[in-house]
Amino acid sequence: MADAKLPHAKLIDGKAFALGLRQRVGAGVAELVATGAPKPGLATVLVGADPASQVYVRSKGKLAAELGMASFDHRLPAETTEAELLALIATLNADPAINGILVQLPLPRHIDTSHVLLAVDPAKDVDGFHPINVGRLGSIAAGAPLDFPVPCTPLGISMLLQDALKSLSGLHAVVIGRSNLVGRPVAQLLLRADCTVTITHSRTRDLPGLCRQADIVVVAIGKREFVRGDWIKPGAAVIDVGINRIVAAEGKTKLVGDAAFAEILPVAGHLTPVPGGVGPMTVACLMFNTLQAARRAAGLKVVSV
Ligand code: NAP
Repeated sequence: MADAKLPHAKLIDGKAFALGLRQRVGAGVAELVATGAPKPGLATVLVGADPASQVYVRSKGKLAAELGMASFDHRLPAETTEAELLALIATLNADPAINGILVQLPLPRHIDTSHVLLAVDPAKDVDGFHPINVGRLGSIAAGAPLDFPVPCTPLGISMLLQDALKSLSGLHAVVIGRSNLVGRPVAQLLLRADCTVTITHSRTRDLPGLCRQADIVVVAIGKREFVRGDWIKPGAAVIDVGINRIVAAEGKTKLVGDAAFAEILPVAGHLTPVPGGVGPMTVACLMFNTLQAARRAAGLKVVSV
Protein backbone atom coordinates (compact mmCIF):
# COMPACT_ATOMS: atom_id res chain seq x y z
CA MET A 1 0.00 0.00 0.00
CA ALA A 2 1.18 3.55 -0.72
CA ASP A 3 2.84 5.42 2.15
CA ALA A 4 0.60 8.42 2.84
CA LYS A 5 3.67 10.52 3.74
CA LEU A 6 5.26 10.13 0.31
CA PRO A 7 4.38 12.64 -2.38
CA HIS A 8 1.81 11.51 -4.89
CA ALA A 9 2.73 11.91 -8.55
CA LYS A 10 0.83 14.41 -10.62
CA LEU A 11 -0.67 12.54 -13.54
CA ILE A 12 0.27 13.97 -16.91
CA ASP A 13 -3.00 14.03 -18.82
CA GLY A 14 -1.88 13.34 -22.39
CA LYS A 15 -5.45 13.02 -23.56
CA ALA A 16 -6.31 16.56 -22.47
CA PHE A 17 -3.01 17.97 -23.78
CA ALA A 18 -3.51 16.22 -27.13
CA LEU A 19 -7.03 17.62 -27.38
CA GLY A 20 -5.66 21.12 -26.79
CA LEU A 21 -2.95 20.56 -29.40
CA ARG A 22 -5.53 19.34 -31.91
CA GLN A 23 -7.57 22.49 -31.30
CA ARG A 24 -4.47 24.64 -31.82
CA VAL A 25 -3.73 22.78 -35.06
CA GLY A 26 -7.34 23.29 -36.21
CA ALA A 27 -7.02 27.03 -35.48
CA GLY A 28 -3.65 27.07 -37.27
CA VAL A 29 -5.19 25.44 -40.35
CA ALA A 30 -7.99 28.05 -40.42
CA GLU A 31 -5.43 30.85 -40.07
CA LEU A 32 -3.29 29.41 -42.88
CA VAL A 33 -6.26 29.01 -45.22
CA ALA A 34 -7.32 32.58 -44.44
CA THR A 35 -4.00 33.78 -45.93
CA GLY A 36 -5.13 32.30 -49.27
CA ALA A 37 -2.94 29.18 -48.95
CA PRO A 38 -4.52 25.84 -49.89
CA LYS A 39 -5.72 23.48 -47.17
CA PRO A 40 -2.88 21.37 -45.74
CA GLY A 41 -3.05 17.95 -47.40
CA LEU A 42 -2.22 14.65 -45.72
CA ALA A 43 -1.87 11.49 -47.82
CA THR A 44 -2.06 8.16 -46.00
CA VAL A 45 -0.81 5.03 -47.72
CA LEU A 46 -1.74 1.56 -46.50
CA VAL A 47 -0.49 -1.61 -48.18
CA GLY A 48 -2.48 -4.71 -47.27
CA ALA A 49 -5.47 -5.19 -45.00
CA ASP A 50 -4.02 -5.50 -41.50
CA PRO A 51 -7.04 -4.65 -39.29
CA ALA A 52 -5.06 -2.61 -36.72
CA SER A 53 -3.36 -0.60 -39.49
CA GLN A 54 -6.73 0.00 -41.14
CA VAL A 55 -8.06 1.46 -37.88
CA TYR A 56 -4.98 3.71 -37.45
CA VAL A 57 -5.11 4.99 -41.02
CA ARG A 58 -8.84 5.64 -40.88
CA SER A 59 -8.54 7.58 -37.61
CA LYS A 60 -5.67 9.70 -39.00
CA GLY A 61 -7.61 10.58 -42.15
CA LYS A 62 -10.74 11.36 -40.13
CA LEU A 63 -8.91 13.63 -37.71
CA ALA A 64 -7.13 15.45 -40.56
CA ALA A 65 -10.55 16.19 -42.13
CA GLU A 66 -11.97 17.32 -38.75
CA LEU A 67 -9.12 19.82 -38.42
CA GLY A 68 -9.87 21.31 -41.84
CA MET A 69 -7.16 19.49 -43.80
CA ALA A 70 -7.58 17.64 -47.06
CA SER A 71 -7.11 13.92 -46.56
CA PHE A 72 -6.08 11.54 -49.36
CA ASP A 73 -6.47 7.88 -48.56
CA HIS A 74 -4.50 5.35 -50.65
CA ARG A 75 -5.27 1.67 -50.02
CA LEU A 76 -3.14 -0.78 -51.96
CA PRO A 77 -3.48 -4.56 -52.07
CA ALA A 78 -1.01 -6.69 -50.08
CA GLU A 79 0.60 -7.94 -53.31
CA THR A 80 1.58 -4.40 -54.43
CA THR A 81 5.20 -4.45 -55.60
CA GLU A 82 7.88 -2.18 -54.20
CA ALA A 83 8.12 -0.48 -57.62
CA GLU A 84 4.37 0.25 -57.62
CA LEU A 85 4.55 1.72 -54.11
CA LEU A 86 7.58 3.85 -55.04
CA ALA A 87 5.71 5.10 -58.11
CA LEU A 88 2.77 6.20 -55.94
CA ILE A 89 5.16 7.99 -53.56
CA ALA A 90 6.77 9.79 -56.50
CA THR A 91 3.32 11.00 -57.58
CA LEU A 92 2.50 12.20 -54.05
CA ASN A 93 5.90 13.93 -53.79
CA ALA A 94 5.13 15.87 -56.98
CA ASP A 95 1.55 16.82 -55.98
CA PRO A 96 1.43 20.38 -54.55
CA ALA A 97 -1.89 19.60 -52.81
CA ILE A 98 -0.07 17.19 -50.52
CA ASN A 99 2.07 18.43 -47.64
CA GLY A 100 2.40 15.23 -45.64
CA ILE A 101 2.86 11.61 -46.68
CA LEU A 102 2.30 8.90 -44.15
CA VAL A 103 3.17 5.34 -45.15
CA GLN A 104 1.63 3.06 -42.55
CA LEU A 105 4.17 0.60 -41.15
CA PRO A 106 4.81 -2.30 -41.07
CA LEU A 107 4.90 -2.94 -44.81
CA PRO A 108 4.55 -6.44 -46.27
CA ARG A 109 7.84 -8.36 -46.08
CA HIS A 110 8.52 -8.26 -49.84
CA ILE A 111 8.86 -4.46 -49.68
CA ASP A 112 12.07 -2.94 -48.30
CA THR A 113 10.92 -0.33 -45.78
CA SER A 114 14.19 1.60 -46.00
CA HIS A 115 13.70 2.13 -49.77
CA VAL A 116 10.21 3.48 -49.13
CA LEU A 117 11.22 5.82 -46.30
CA LEU A 118 14.07 7.15 -48.46
CA ALA A 119 11.68 7.81 -51.35
CA VAL A 120 9.42 10.19 -49.41
CA ASP A 121 10.25 13.86 -50.00
CA PRO A 122 11.94 14.95 -46.69
CA ALA A 123 9.76 18.08 -46.68
CA LYS A 124 6.62 15.88 -46.69
CA ASP A 125 7.98 13.26 -44.30
CA VAL A 126 5.51 13.99 -41.47
CA ASP A 127 6.63 10.88 -39.58
CA GLY A 128 10.20 12.20 -39.43
CA PHE A 129 11.66 8.86 -40.58
CA HIS A 130 13.60 10.01 -43.67
CA PRO A 131 17.37 9.68 -43.09
CA ILE A 132 17.81 13.40 -43.83
CA ASN A 133 15.39 14.30 -41.04
CA VAL A 134 16.91 11.68 -38.73
CA GLY A 135 20.30 13.27 -39.39
CA ARG A 136 18.97 16.78 -38.79
CA LEU A 137 17.60 15.75 -35.40
CA GLY A 138 20.83 13.92 -34.58
CA SER A 139 22.91 17.03 -35.20
CA ILE A 140 20.58 19.70 -33.82
CA ALA A 141 22.11 22.33 -31.55
CA ALA A 142 20.71 23.00 -28.08
CA GLY A 143 17.55 25.07 -28.34
CA ALA A 144 17.68 25.29 -32.15
CA PRO A 145 14.29 25.50 -33.89
CA LEU A 146 12.68 22.28 -35.07
CA ASP A 147 12.31 23.44 -38.66
CA PHE A 148 12.09 19.93 -40.07
CA PRO A 149 9.72 17.02 -39.31
CA VAL A 150 10.37 15.18 -36.04
CA PRO A 151 8.96 11.71 -35.18
CA CYS A 152 5.50 12.11 -33.66
CA THR A 153 5.64 10.10 -30.43
CA PRO A 154 8.99 11.62 -29.31
CA LEU A 155 7.74 15.10 -30.20
CA GLY A 156 4.64 14.46 -28.09
CA ILE A 157 6.77 13.24 -25.17
CA SER A 158 8.94 16.36 -25.28
CA MET A 159 5.85 18.58 -25.36
CA LEU A 160 4.37 16.80 -22.32
CA LEU A 161 7.63 17.09 -20.39
CA GLN A 162 8.11 20.77 -21.25
CA ASP A 163 4.55 21.46 -20.16
CA ALA A 164 4.83 19.51 -16.89
CA LEU A 165 8.33 20.57 -15.80
CA LYS A 166 8.69 23.93 -17.64
CA SER A 167 12.52 23.97 -17.85
CA LEU A 168 14.31 20.70 -18.56
CA SER A 169 17.75 22.34 -18.46
CA GLY A 170 20.35 20.39 -16.51
CA LEU A 171 18.00 17.52 -15.62
CA HIS A 172 19.32 13.99 -15.92
CA ALA A 173 17.11 11.95 -18.25
CA VAL A 174 17.42 8.18 -18.52
CA VAL A 175 15.84 6.88 -21.72
CA ILE A 176 15.14 3.14 -21.69
CA GLY A 177 15.03 1.79 -25.26
CA ARG A 178 17.05 2.87 -28.30
CA SER A 179 14.64 2.33 -31.20
CA ASN A 180 14.59 4.69 -34.15
CA LEU A 181 10.88 5.16 -33.52
CA VAL A 182 11.03 6.29 -29.89
CA GLY A 183 14.21 5.97 -27.78
CA ARG A 184 16.80 7.64 -30.01
CA PRO A 185 14.70 10.60 -31.15
CA VAL A 186 13.45 11.18 -27.58
CA ALA A 187 17.07 11.29 -26.42
CA GLN A 188 17.94 13.84 -29.14
CA LEU A 189 14.98 16.05 -28.22
CA LEU A 190 15.95 15.95 -24.53
CA LEU A 191 19.54 16.86 -25.41
CA ARG A 192 18.20 19.79 -27.41
CA ALA A 193 16.33 20.83 -24.25
CA ASP A 194 19.66 20.77 -22.32
CA CYS A 195 19.05 17.56 -20.39
CA THR A 196 21.96 15.27 -19.57
CA VAL A 197 20.86 12.11 -21.33
CA THR A 198 21.68 8.48 -20.65
CA ILE A 199 20.41 6.11 -23.35
CA THR A 200 19.92 2.55 -22.10
CA HIS A 201 18.95 -0.74 -23.76
CA SER A 202 18.79 -4.48 -23.23
CA ARG A 203 22.56 -4.79 -22.61
CA THR A 204 22.77 -1.93 -20.09
CA ARG A 205 24.25 -2.87 -16.73
CA ASP A 206 22.52 -1.84 -13.51
CA LEU A 207 19.51 -0.18 -15.11
CA PRO A 208 17.76 0.23 -11.73
CA GLY A 209 20.84 2.07 -10.39
CA LEU A 210 20.92 4.41 -13.40
CA CYS A 211 17.20 5.11 -13.09
CA ARG A 212 17.62 5.99 -9.39
CA GLN A 213 19.88 8.89 -10.49
CA ALA A 214 17.36 10.22 -13.01
CA ASP A 215 15.17 13.30 -12.79
CA ILE A 216 13.31 12.00 -15.86
CA VAL A 217 12.79 8.37 -16.88
CA VAL A 218 11.34 7.68 -20.33
CA VAL A 219 10.63 3.99 -20.88
CA ALA A 220 9.84 2.57 -24.33
CA ILE A 221 10.61 -1.13 -24.44
CA GLY A 222 7.31 -3.02 -24.75
CA LYS A 223 7.65 -5.04 -21.50
CA ARG A 224 4.76 -4.74 -19.09
CA GLU A 225 5.47 -3.06 -15.74
CA PHE A 226 9.22 -3.47 -16.19
CA VAL A 227 10.28 -0.29 -14.36
CA ARG A 228 9.58 -0.70 -10.65
CA GLY A 229 8.72 1.83 -7.95
CA ASP A 230 12.03 1.38 -6.10
CA TRP A 231 13.96 2.38 -9.28
CA ILE A 232 12.52 5.89 -9.14
CA LYS A 233 14.06 8.86 -7.35
CA PRO A 234 11.37 10.61 -5.26
CA GLY A 235 9.87 13.45 -7.30
CA ALA A 236 11.20 12.27 -10.69
CA ALA A 237 9.06 12.44 -13.85
CA VAL A 238 8.25 9.07 -15.43
CA ILE A 239 7.05 8.90 -19.02
CA ASP A 240 5.64 5.50 -19.89
CA VAL A 241 5.54 4.94 -23.66
CA GLY A 242 4.85 1.19 -23.54
CA ILE A 243 1.64 -0.31 -24.83
CA ASN A 244 1.13 -3.87 -23.66
CA ARG A 245 -2.17 -5.64 -24.12
CA ILE A 246 -2.97 -8.06 -21.31
CA VAL A 247 -5.91 -10.26 -20.50
CA ALA A 248 -7.42 -8.95 -17.26
CA ALA A 249 -10.34 -10.18 -15.17
CA GLU A 250 -13.27 -11.81 -17.01
CA GLY A 251 -11.16 -12.32 -20.10
CA LYS A 252 -11.27 -8.63 -21.01
CA THR A 253 -8.14 -7.14 -22.58
CA LYS A 254 -6.58 -4.11 -21.00
CA LEU A 255 -3.59 -1.88 -21.81
CA VAL A 256 -0.70 -1.54 -19.39
CA GLY A 257 2.54 0.33 -19.76
CA ASP A 258 6.22 -0.49 -19.29
CA ALA A 259 6.19 1.06 -15.81
CA ALA A 260 4.60 -0.40 -12.66
CA PHE A 261 2.03 2.38 -12.29
CA ALA A 262 0.75 1.61 -8.78
CA GLU A 263 4.29 1.32 -7.35
CA ILE A 264 5.55 4.48 -9.05
CA LEU A 265 2.56 6.70 -8.32
CA PRO A 266 3.47 7.35 -4.65
CA VAL A 267 7.13 8.04 -5.47
CA ALA A 268 7.32 10.04 -8.70
CA GLY A 269 6.61 13.73 -9.10
CA HIS A 270 4.93 13.27 -12.49
CA LEU A 271 3.70 10.15 -14.25
CA THR A 272 1.93 9.39 -17.52
CA PRO A 273 -0.89 6.84 -17.31
CA VAL A 274 -1.43 4.08 -19.87
CA PRO A 275 -3.78 4.58 -21.61
CA GLY A 276 -4.29 8.34 -21.74
CA GLY A 277 -0.67 9.50 -21.42
CA VAL A 278 1.72 9.42 -24.38
CA GLY A 279 -0.63 7.51 -26.72
CA PRO A 280 -3.00 10.35 -27.70
CA MET A 281 -0.04 12.64 -28.44
CA THR A 282 1.16 10.64 -31.43
CA VAL A 283 -1.71 11.37 -33.80
CA ALA A 284 -2.03 14.96 -32.53
CA CYS A 285 1.67 15.50 -33.37
CA LEU A 286 1.12 13.99 -36.82
CA MET A 287 -1.47 16.70 -37.44
CA PHE A 288 0.92 19.29 -36.00
CA ASN A 289 3.70 18.09 -38.33
CA THR A 290 1.34 18.29 -41.32
CA LEU A 291 0.41 21.88 -40.46
CA GLN A 292 4.10 22.74 -40.04
CA ALA A 293 4.88 21.21 -43.45
CA ALA A 294 2.05 23.22 -45.04
CA ARG A 295 3.35 26.42 -43.42
CA ARG A 296 6.83 25.75 -44.80
CA ALA A 297 5.36 25.05 -48.26
CA ALA A 298 3.54 28.41 -48.06
CA GLY A 299 6.81 30.16 -47.17
CA LEU A 300 5.68 30.87 -43.58
CA LYS A 301 7.62 30.38 -40.36
CA VAL A 302 6.81 27.21 -38.43
CA VAL A 303 5.06 27.36 -35.06
CA SER A 304 7.80 27.08 -32.42
CA VAL A 305 7.97 24.04 -30.14
P1 NAP B 1 11.37 -1.68 -30.19
O1 NAP B 1 11.73 -1.18 -31.54
O2 NAP B 1 11.04 -3.10 -29.98
O3 NAP B 1 12.59 -1.29 -29.23
C1 NAP B 1 12.59 -1.72 -27.91
C2 NAP B 1 13.82 -1.19 -27.21
O4 NAP B 1 13.74 -1.63 -25.87
C3 NAP B 1 15.14 -1.71 -27.78
O5 NAP B 1 16.07 -0.67 -27.88
C4 NAP B 1 15.58 -2.75 -26.74
O6 NAP B 1 16.98 -2.83 -26.56
C5 NAP B 1 14.98 -2.16 -25.48
N1 NAP B 1 14.80 -3.19 -24.46
C6 NAP B 1 14.16 -4.37 -24.61
N2 NAP B 1 14.24 -5.07 -23.47
C7 NAP B 1 14.93 -4.30 -22.60
C8 NAP B 1 15.34 -4.48 -21.26
N3 NAP B 1 15.06 -5.60 -20.59
N4 NAP B 1 16.04 -3.50 -20.66
C9 NAP B 1 16.35 -2.37 -21.33
N5 NAP B 1 15.98 -2.14 -22.61
C10 NAP B 1 15.29 -3.10 -23.23
O7 NAP B 1 10.15 -0.88 -29.56
P2 NAP B 1 9.56 0.60 -29.88
O8 NAP B 1 9.02 0.64 -31.23
O9 NAP B 1 10.55 1.63 -29.44
O10 NAP B 1 8.33 0.61 -28.85
C11 NAP B 1 8.51 0.45 -27.48
C12 NAP B 1 7.15 0.45 -26.79
O11 NAP B 1 6.54 1.70 -27.01
C13 NAP B 1 6.17 -0.59 -27.31
O12 NAP B 1 5.36 -1.05 -26.24
C14 NAP B 1 5.32 0.18 -28.29
O13 NAP B 1 4.02 -0.37 -28.45
C15 NAP B 1 5.27 1.51 -27.60
N6 NAP B 1 5.00 2.64 -28.51
C16 NAP B 1 4.00 3.50 -28.15
C17 NAP B 1 3.71 4.58 -28.95
C18 NAP B 1 2.63 5.53 -28.55
O14 NAP B 1 2.08 6.22 -29.37
N7 NAP B 1 2.30 5.60 -27.26
C19 NAP B 1 4.42 4.79 -30.13
C20 NAP B 1 5.47 3.92 -30.45
C21 NAP B 1 5.75 2.85 -29.62
P3 NAP B 1 17.98 -3.39 -27.69
O15 NAP B 1 18.13 -2.27 -28.67
O16 NAP B 1 19.21 -3.69 -26.94
O17 NAP B 1 17.29 -4.60 -28.29
